Amino acid sequence: PIYFDYAATTPVHADVLKAMLPYFSEEFGNAGSSQHYYGWAAEEAIETSRKKISSYFGVQARQVVFTSGATESNNLCILGYLKDRPKGHLITSSIEHKAVLQVFQELSHQGWSVTYLQPNALGCIEVSDLEQAIRSDTTLISLMMVNNETGNVTDFQSISQLCKQANIIFHSDATQAIGKLDFTQYVHLPDLLSFSGHKIYGPKGIGGIIFNSNVALKPLTYGGGQERGLRPGTLPVQQIVALAACFDLMPLLIESVHKILTFKHKILKGLIGEYVLNSSDNQSVPHIISISIPNIDWEELYRRIPAIAVSNGSACNAKSHLPSHVMKAIGHSDALALSTLRISLSYLTHESDVDFLIDYLNKQLFNR
Ligand code: PLP
Repeated sequence: PIYFDYAATTPVHADVLKAMLPYFSEEFGNAGSSQHYYGWAAEEAIETSRKKISSYFGVQARQVVFTSGATESNNLCILGYLKDRPKGHLITSSIEHKAVLQVFQELSHQGWSVTYLQPNALGCIEVSDLEQAIRSDTTLISLMMVNNETGNVTDFQSISQLCKQANIIFHSDATQAIGKLDFTQYVHLPDLLSFSGHKIYGPKGIGGIIFNSNVALKPLTYGGGQERGLRPGTLPVQQIVALAACFDLMPLLIESVHKILTFKHKILKGLIGEYVLNSSDNQSVPHIISISIPNIDWEELYRRIPAIAVSNGSACNAKSHLPSHVMKAIGHSDALALSTLRISLSYLTHESDVDFLIDYLNKQLFNR
């Protein structure tokens, strides 16, 4: 099948693979704990990588922490900040990834009060709703930058400013934003930002946090003191070098946004059956197009389209066959929520792929 599921994961770019390969078997040292060449070489590779990533975000190298991926980053940011603090009020949204929502569910069990903001009719979180939800005991706000099911973008610039003024910590899951939004243009970053390598043409199992150094994070695990004690464990040098190499791809990724936008328009114009568009027209990244198809049940829907690899809304819901919580939050019935296709595009997508997709969906779903 032709791959249209780049929001689920991406292939490792050749340059990224090339950069990481020497660190498997030639430069295989243990960073930080060895008093010899091998350890120093590994440490140098890690610190060079840290510097490269931090400079992309315009922060200091010490503001980068390496983790196993965005799930761990989200957990460490939220739980690590709230650990040992007096229990107060937290704000997130009903359309966050499970790697944030489940954390808040746990916090709520622990006695924190949690407000879940609901999206507007276009599936976006409104800053004015957030402003209204803030209380005097609001401790932390977590809102994702780009929604993984719809591609809708949250106004994190305004929220960062708002949180700074209100003295509230702002965490944002930027997993789907990096490589799609141009971070070199942004002045206001969240206090805590999570991201993952495998969504930006790097390997699976590596991610990171960018954090404001005024924010006191506490570790969730204990060990050999790596990452200044925040995330102990022998550092996966090859993964870290690969993650840094992904940031060399940013010009390529950002340059391709315009091409991807023309593909999005072509797809939406080309589909000639009945569908509901779940992605905002002008407040979303063009890489993610979510449509729901009324009157075809989801099993039948997926039986009809074996030649394309698309997602049914969210990778982590794929096995459970439960309607996606994001589609439900937008207001869809269970049936419509289940009959959702998430088409996600990349700089690797060719115009001929897009043409095939349009013809194929028209034929298989709309009998045209
Ligand atoms: N957050 C968002 C928005 C995602 O899209 C994903 C990917 O599924 C994750 C978190 C989880 O990332 P990881 O696979 O790196 O743990």
